[in-house]
Amino acid sequence: MDKIKTILLFGAPGSGKGTQGKMLGTLPGFRHLACGDVFRSIDLNSEVGKVFLQYSSKGELVPDDFTVRLWREHIDKLIHTGAFRPESTALVLDGIPRNVHQARMLDQYIEVVKLVALRATHDREEMVRRLKSRALKENRLDDANEKTIAHRLEVYDRESRPVLEYYPERLCVDVDALQSPIEVAHDILSAILGRTQELHAIELPAVASTK
Ligand code: ADP
Repeated sequence: MDKIKTILLFGAPGSGKGTQGKMLGTLPGFRHLACGDVFRSIDLNSEVGKVFLQYSSKGELVPDDFTVRLWREHIDKLIHTGAFRPESTALVLDGIPRNVHQARMLDQYIEVVKLVALRATHDREEMVRRLKSRALKENRLDDANEKTIAHRLEVYDRESRPVLEYYPERLCVDVDALQSPIEVAHDILSAILGRTQELHAIELPAVASTK
């Protein structure tokens, strides 16, 4: 199978990857998949669900082999049922890869055509505020208290941030995640279409590139 053309949405917890990924996923030619949503779609009483809860409730990453296997099975199912057609659709991934080891493991399945880094860590208070408000709305254990949030932000700095150096610089674009959601969306679309300085339009599957 050809590698899946993929746009990575990257950023700390609370940077808005999910909001922006969902927005992109509504556009023809794009399919959004959040790794956290794959986990949350599992029955939390099942063995797999329990493993997820064991780590996520402490703000830890779920082990890599387990995560990538689950992600892969989910993608396979989407392709198999026709819900995702990689030949005509670009994949918008958020929440994976979350460390360099996962990035290496994914290399055999995906071709990263753009990495959008949502930058917001310079305003930590805003990130914490966003996560706490999400915890209330979405009933998320991992955002429920400040200690877990702080730990998640540390894990991001230590394990996830190095992923930015793993991919070639020409694929990476920074977007200020503290703007309004519509401004962030504008910048992401500009980056994807190659309309910001020195960026070249990425080669997307046929449907995505027809206007
Ligand atoms: P956020 O959007 O706040 O960054 P996610 O919804 O992506 O959070 O993930 C929630 C939790 O699920 C994480 O804290 C982690 O425990 C687990 N998780 C999600 N994606 C991964 C991944 N790629 N590798 C390991 N654990 C993951």
